[in-house]
Amino acid sequence: MNSNNNEKLLVSSCLAGFSCRYNGKGKPNKEIIELVKSGRGIPICAEQLAGLSIPRAPAEIVGGDGADALNGEAKVLSKDGEDYTARMVTGAEKALAICKLYNIKKAYLKSKSPSCGVNHIYDGTFSDKIIKGDGVLSALLKKNGIDIIEVE
Ligand code: SF4
Repeated sequence: MNSNNNEKLLVSSCLAGFSCRYNGKGKPNKEIIELVKSGRGIPICAEQLAGLSIPRAPAEIVGGDGADALNGEAKVLSKDGEDYTARMVTGAEKALAICKLYNIKKAYLKSKSPSCGVNHIYDGTFSDKIIKGDGVLSALLKKNGIDIIEVE
């Protein structure tokens, strides 16, 4: 993670150590925390921006990936069947607005999340199977020309 300039970067809040995951925990990553401390990393949780509670039931994209959800061709469902799709799209749009405000061109996002997931997401069966595809936020940011780096 190059930190030699002042370019602002979007980072997943949970990677910055905030307790915003579905299970009420964070997923702290030392390098991401340093980016935030330096003032370059802007921590965002699209699911918090979506108004989802903490904790919340875990969710997966059913019937496609984040790009499909943005097009209305797939749904983001919680494990107990609640439809999160509209809220997740709204949360992603709010995160994109923040990127525009800070002129952000690059994001470091947590792997496999139905929002932040980059190139790999769960398959919608809640059985730990991974498929190719982006989460809703990643898909929207990519569509808007923002580079996404997957962080495990
Ligand atoms: S939406 Fe992104 S930032 Fe929020 S908990 Fe999920 S992976 Fe972390």
